[in-house]
Amino acid sequence: MPKMTDDDFDESTLFGAEAVASIPVPKPVALAVTSPAAESDNPLSKYFRLPGLSVSLPTGGAYFPAGAIELDDAGEVAVYPMRAADEMLLASPDALMNNSAIISLIRSCVPAIKRPEFVSSPDLDVLLVAIRVASNGETMEIQLECPECKKPNTFEVDLPAVLGTMTKVPAVNPLRLSDEVVVYLRPHNMATQGKILISAFRETRAAQAIALDETLSEEEKGARLSVVMERLTDMNLFGLANSVVKVVVPGYEVTNVEHIKQFLGETDKGTLNRLRDELERINSLGIDKTVPAACVHCAHEWEGAIEFNPATFFEDRSSD
Ligand SMILES: [Zn+2]
Repeated sequence: MPKMTDDDFDESTLFGAEAVASIPVPKPVALAVTSPAAESDNPLSKYFRLPGLSVSLPTGGAYFPAGAIELDDAGEVAVYPMRAADEMLLASPDALMNNSAIISLIRSCVPAIKRPEFVSSPDLDVLLVAIRVASNGETMEIQLECPECKKPNTFEVDLPAVLGTMTKVPAVNPLRLSDEVVVYLRPHNMATQGKILISAFRETRAAQAIALDETLSEEEKGARLSVVMERLTDMNLFGLANSVVKVVVPGYEVTNVEHIKQFLGETDKGTLNRLRDELERINSLGIDKTVPAACVHCAHEWEGAIEFNPATFFEDRSSD
C-alpha cells in the first residue's frame, strides 16, 4: 500500500481518530447473516444475488469493535458477487483515493461486516480475493514481466489456492521496547489507511505546487517545503499511533492516542524503526501474495507478486 501525505483541509473531521471514535456503534442486529434482500417485501427479492462463498478472516474479527462484524457459526462471513454499481464506483479515482469505494464494496458484498472502516489490511486482501471469486470465478489471469529477459508473461492464478495460504493474525501483538515499556500493536485499518492516503496525496500535491511556484525565492520554497515535511511526519506518527492498541509501563496502561502519538514523536529512531518493522510484519500477515513464476521465453524462475490494486483487481481479462 502506498505511504503518504497538505493544506488547510482538516482531515480529522473526515477520518480522524476522534471522528471515528465518535461514530455511534450500531446495536447488533438480531438477523442471521442473510442477503439484504431478505429484509425486503419485494416479490423479486428471492431472485436477488446469492452469496458465492464463505471465508474466514486472518484476524478472526479480533480487531472489530462490538457489533461491527457478525461471524456465522463457523466463524466465517458470506461473500456476495459484485453489482454493476460496485464496479462503477471502483472506476472512480476520487472514491478509490479515500477508500470510500472499497468501503462501499465491502458493505455491498460482505453484509456481515457492518463497519467496513474497521477492516484491517490482512482481512482486506482476503475479502478482495473472495469478492473476485464470487464475481468472476476462481481463476485470475495476471501479466508479469520477466525480471531476466523483460518479456511479458501471462499466468493463471488459482484464487482458492491463494486463499488457502492464509495465516492467522494473533489477537494480541506485544512488542517489548525496554525493561519497562511494552507496546501492543494491531494491523492498519481502512479508516487510518484512508486518512493517510488522502493526506499523502495532498502533501505531495502541495510540495509540487511549491516547487513550481516561480514567484517564490529559493529560501521561501525551502521554508514552505519544510512545513509540508512536518505535516507528513505528523501524519506518519498518526498512522503509527493508530496502530498501537496500548502502551504498558509500570503503573499505567496508556490508550490515549494523543499521548501515544506524543510518545512516538519523542522516541529514538532505532526504537521507532523496530516498531515500524514489526507493524509491517503484522500488516503483511494473512494470505501469501506471491506466486511461483517461470518465464516462457527464457525459463527464468522467480516469485511473482499479485497486484492488489482495487482499480484493476476486478477486471476480467480472461473473458471477452
Ligand atoms: Zn524471461
